[in-house]
Amino acid sequence: MDKDQILSKFSTDPDRYYKVALFENEGFRRKSCIKCRRFFWTLDDNISMCPDHIENSYSFIGDPPTNKRFDYTQAWKEVESFFVQNNHKSVGRYPVVCRWRDDLYFTIASIVDFQRVMGSKVVFEFPANPLIVPQTCLRFKDIENVGVTGRHFSSFCMIGQHSIPNSQGYWKDKCVELDFKLLTERFGINKKEIVFVEDVWAGGGSFGSSLEYFVRGLELGNAVFTEFQGDLTNYSVLDQKIIDMGAGLERFAWITMGTPTAYDCCFGPITKHMITKIGIDIDSGTISKYFMSVAKALSESNDIAIVRKMAAKIAGLDETKQDKIISPLEGIYMIADHLRTLVFAISDGALPSNVGGGYNLRMILRRTLATIDRFGWNFDLNNLIDLHIDYLKSTYPELEQTRNDVKTIIEIEKNRYNESKVRMKNMATTFKTQNKKLSVDDLIRLYESDGITPDFLKESHIIQEIPSTFYERLSDLHQSEKTEKKEELDLEGIPDTDLLYYKDDPHEFKAKVLKIIKNKFVILDKTSFYARGGGQEPDHGKIEEFDVIDVSKHGNVVLHEVREGEVPKEGIVASCKIDSARRYGITRNHTSTHVLNASARNILGSWIWQHSAFKDVEYARLDITHHSNLTEDEIMKIEDLANTTIRKNIPVLINQFERGEAEQEYGFRIYQGGVVPVKLVRIVNIEGFDVEACGGTHVQKTGEIGLIKITKAERIQDGVVRLEFVSSKSALKYTQNQDQKISHIVKSLGSSKEKMLESFEHVMKDSDDAKKRLRHIIKRTSEASAREAISQAKSIGKIKLYSTVDEELDEEFHISVGEMATKIDKSLIYCAFIVKNESIKIISFSGADAIPIKKAGDLVKEVSKVLGGSGGGRDAFGQGGGKDLSKIKDALLTIEKSILGER
Ligand SMILES: [Zn+2]
Ligand SMILES: [Zn+2]
Repeated sequence: MDKDQILSKFSTDPDRYYKVALFENEGFRRKSCIKCRRFFWTLDDNISMCPDHIENSYSFIGDPPTNKRFDYTQAWKEVESFFVQNNHKSVGRYPVVCRWRDDLYFTIASIVDFQRVMGSKVVFEFPANPLIVPQTCLRFKDIENVGVTGRHFSSFCMIGQHSIPNSQGYWKDKCVELDFKLLTERFGINKKEIVFVEDVWAGGGSFGSSLEYFVRGLELGNAVFTEFQGDLTNYSVLDQKIIDMGAGLERFAWITMGTPTAYDCCFGPITKHMITKIGIDIDSGTISKYFMSVAKALSESNDIAIVRKMAAKIAGLDETKQDKIISPLEGIYMIADHLRTLVFAISDGALPSNVGGGYNLRMILRRTLATIDRFGWNFDLNNLIDLHIDYLKSTYPELEQTRNDVKTIIEIEKNRYNESKVRMKNMATTFKTQNKKLSVDDLIRLYESDGITPDFLKESHIIQEIPSTFYERLSDLHQSEKTEKKEELDLEGIPDTDLLYYKDDPHEFKAKVLKIIKNKFVILDKTSFYARGGGQEPDHGKIEEFDVIDVSKHGNVVLHEVREGEVPKEGIVASCKIDSARRYGITRNHTSTHVLNASARNILGSWIWQHSAFKDVEYARLDITHHSNLTEDEIMKIEDLANTTIRKNIPVLINQFERGEAEQEYGFRIYQGGVVPVKLVRIVNIEGFDVEACGGTHVQKTGEIGLIKITKAERIQDGVVRLEFVSSKSALKYTQNQDQKISHIVKSLGSSKEKMLESFEHVMKDSDDAKKRLRHIIKRTSEASAREAISQAKSIGKIKLYSTVDEELDEEFHISVGEMATKIDKSLIYCAFIVKNESIKIISFSGADAIPIKKAGDLVKEVSKVLGGSGGGRDAFGQGGGKDLSKIKDALLTIEKSILGER
């Protein structure tokens, strides 16, 4: 819906949409900006322009409009105690990694905390009413502005004030009154300084009016009144109206402190620490003047380069001074911001990577490292992380628990970046020589495929400036990921299937056949057949005499797939029986994934989350989020802990909870398997070890699993490690199999299990010795073989050709002979095809006199193509090969044709 249209409609009836009791009681006047026509409300008779256009905008820098001074932490304490005194519940922040919505990687606003997606609808679930929350929000769209504008952050604290108007909550009048009181009474801001601007909000099918409030041109908050649904020609009032007031805590601190930038008062001691460390000389008057000009210029231009230039001119800074003072300051601010974002994101379980939301995290870390490199600074990142957490922990005590994990991840990523620098430098040099102009698309591709950040390219002078659209584009690409939809079947009018596997779970039962679809899908009124879901494979079994080969769920209807045409009659009551042995195998594997996941988290670190999982009878796998390959030692430790947990025979408790209640009780760790789109969640609790929301089948006690054995651990993509494992009987079978293989090897070695390693080393040594002897023999006989080849060579014009197909001797032999032969006879071309393991390798030499006719590299290139492969090389020597054994004859002919210059 077009916001402008809604705004112009609402503005024609301000009494209904905007006039709140406060405006009446205090005598606010409604005015229209003489520059842009926007409507605003003020107590100051002298202003005629909206906050975007007033003269004194940003004049709080160096001259705050209040005697009170609150830094970031203190500002939150003030806000919190004010709202708590006014009957709000203060709730803790939600994770910045948005586990409860699959359309968002990161939490981008406080209201997101309380939104749950049900089908195509967003519903609201508030743990209290009214409430406030200090919600850390991550946004990566304006990253180029961070550190530069004085007010842009990649993460910030949104003060969320939320209320549902009912017996406990309130609506517009009270909301605006509270916000006004907060500013005037708590923060000591003069009433006349506060301006409310009329605006609207629309999204997700609903809309409403909003009042943004400003002090001296700085937007402090925006109170949105979500009230209507529908469109402008036809809308109705929502059943559940909601107040969504979001205010930037960083700005609340800034307006009372009047520092040159918001960064100066929001990161605790960290900026000062860095400034002292690099020793730049700062004259606060000039800096204030500069950043005030930046803030003002931003309302005129979006181009950050132009904004910087304008501001420098006004502050009287020449280019040298800008480079010496402003640039490093911007760098320091940016580093402080980016590190704080990483602290929150990593604490909440996100990893820098080249997938999904991890892109943005890797980007900001690499920006940070590149900036430190560019200035040649010597910052201890661990120390900076400590400074952040020490400062933040009074508001966010949970950060203490992940302090070391954050350091670990950042250290790993830093090393990775340093390792890739050589390769990045080589690529940069290539670009430089090519003198190619790089587009935004090129830059995105370079970052996505090679991890090369535009900051690095700027540092290497490949590009002058980072295009302003780069970060926005990257953020759009990776902000959300659409989930795939499954095929829609017409199930209109069919009642929900009664799921017996969540009740008594009878493995034999009778059920009515309601409908057959496509001659192969059976729909029953109730079922114990588990439908594929949550990575758990479906049950098999029989409906009457017909085999059930697959079971899936569409909405709340379960479809039992049988072989086409082999279907029971509609309407009958059918005898059904599920394959209990199969079910039990899958069930044990499912509980095993929970055990293994929690074991991995315990052993490796808090960043371990289930990425995905698959549980069949004989095979299961669990993909976890982890930064590196697992070492053998780590795998063993995970196995040990998992099996200890099994031996403890811990009860696996399953209970239904209201979703909000489960989140409060167990935290967002429960969403290992992703988003749960139902109001009642099923909580699977391995007491004292692991709690997950899960719809799968589980054993009653961990002891039933018997044994877990990891069979393979492999890094399948950046940030994801796949664990393949077997449990129970399959685990025993697996170890028995391994044992058998060993016995076989032992027998072939003519050894015993105890002496196996020793014997193996003997064999290896023998083999090495044999190779050495062979090499010796080749050397001694190669002259003879070379002369033999020359004598057999065929004359083609001025040169000679020797070609051979060899299935016995290896390339080492032919390299030795070919080299010798072309030395003895300079007009010789020597070409050998070595056939081994279903493929052909080509070795070719051209003697000095043959090179002008045919270079060895060129010859191999042409011939390899015939064999369906590739090759090349230098003038005198070439190698290549292919896999198409049927083309050997053609390839031999090609050699001659090629020498003759025929095609
Ligand atoms: Zn205006
Ligand atoms: Zn599960």
